[in-house]
Amino acid sequence: MRTPTVKIEHARYVVTLDGARRIVADGSILIEGPRISRVGKAAELRDVAADRVIDARHLLVTPGFVNGHMHISYAHAVRGIFPDDMGSPLPYVFRLQMAMTEDEEYYTTLLGLVELLKGGTVAFVDPGSTKYPDACLQAYTDAGIRVILGEGVSDQNAPFPLPRYSTEEGVRRTEDFLRKWNGRLDGRIHAWAMPFSPESCSAELLRGVKRAADEAGTGLTLHHLSGPEARRESVARHGLGPTQYLESLGLLGPSVLLSHAPGLDADEIDCLARTGTAVAVCPVMNAKRGGGTAEHGRMPELLAKGVRVALGSDSPNNSNHLDMVRTLNMAALQYKDARQDLRQIPAERALEMGTRLGAQALGLGAEIGSIEPGKRADLVLFDTARPEWQAMFNPVNNLVYNADGRSVHTVIVDGRVIVDAYRQSFVDEPRLFARVQEIGERLLARTGVELPRSRWPIV
Ligand SMILES: [Zn+2]
Repeated sequence: MRTPTVKIEHARYVVTLDGARRIVADGSILIEGPRISRVGKAAELRDVAADRVIDARHLLVTPGFVNGHMHISYAHAVRGIFPDDMGSPLPYVFRLQMAMTEDEEYYTTLLGLVELLKGGTVAFVDPGSTKYPDACLQAYTDAGIRVILGEGVSDQNAPFPLPRYSTEEGVRRTEDFLRKWNGRLDGRIHAWAMPFSPESCSAELLRGVKRAADEAGTGLTLHHLSGPEARRESVARHGLGPTQYLESLGLLGPSVLLSHAPGLDADEIDCLARTGTAVAVCPVMNAKRGGGTAEHGRMPELLAKGVRVALGSDSPNNSNHLDMVRTLNMAALQYKDARQDLRQIPAERALEMGTRLGAQALGLGAEIGSIEPGKRADLVLFDTARPEWQAMFNPVNNLVYNADGRSVHTVIVDGRVIVDAYRQSFVDEPRLFARVQEIGERLLARTGVELPRSRWPIV
């Protein structure tokens, strides 16, 4: 059978994120099967024919976005229920999460995937939220997205109801999960070890799941916290700071992605750089939850030391959106303001974290993250024929500072056009939205979670 081909022709700009960071004006891209085979000026590819040609004269092309930390599951059904000034939502989060049924999780996952893809995200890490991966497999198949999945495990008491097992069972479940899931859907599913956090897992569990990940040749992610208070507690419990503790267990390394990691000190950042450990930072969640970027944010220091940094959105009830362009925007603005320093996180750096660098942080750098021959054809085509894109002189500034995910016009994953001129065809959206609303109503009633619906009277 002949390989199907797609040609993106006369793109207004192709922002390649290649080694030289070339931006090709009036560019064309040829896709053969799941991979990019040619990238260049439209004139160079003029005589190349394809099964499908996308006229991209008003479109700007970037690599697909990567979301390094996004809890997919319960939150879409009850998004927006947490008041701004509520303390930790975690007790509610896990009560709702644990109450999800298979059917409910399938639909909330599907909604999450629609939102991710329509915003240009082609790959994401679900840090162990999904309870029913078998039920969600059909959603991943239909949506065609890349996903890094794992089973969330813990073996210690936590102040909220995490999935808790004996140490041996936690390790065994992780081994089984990796064996069953890694590499499925033509390699679009990656299975990783996902212990929840160092506080909720014993040293034996952490070592055991890391060994399982290493043996399976795959990755590991966990929530990580530092700062003066966490350091004091960690030193009291383990005689070491939080990051040094993980290093002492052999938990750090190139296949490990720490999430959030606020409050790291210089020694901890050196430790991550030395071990090649990656970090996923969630800028919108940090701002919304009053995380204190000025005091605890370390993105510039991590980047300066060459640590691979990905951006994440965290749970859709923490961020609350999954729009990676708005996330790039937040990353680029947040540190300029927090440090009162305009040199912090330029627009180009933010875009790197959302694409090339983020893909590297997830261990996917050889396959995605830039537009180059040989890479997987994971692309976002932005519609620049919209008011917010005018006037166009600096494409990266316009993307990061003017635009948002609403101008995502077309999204391609593995050479397959998934969002085509603003439309996806794998699910009936109005029916899905109504169903998820119903699931949310039922879930709140069933769990007895009652929060004020609105500060203002809904009449
Ligand atoms: Zn998380």
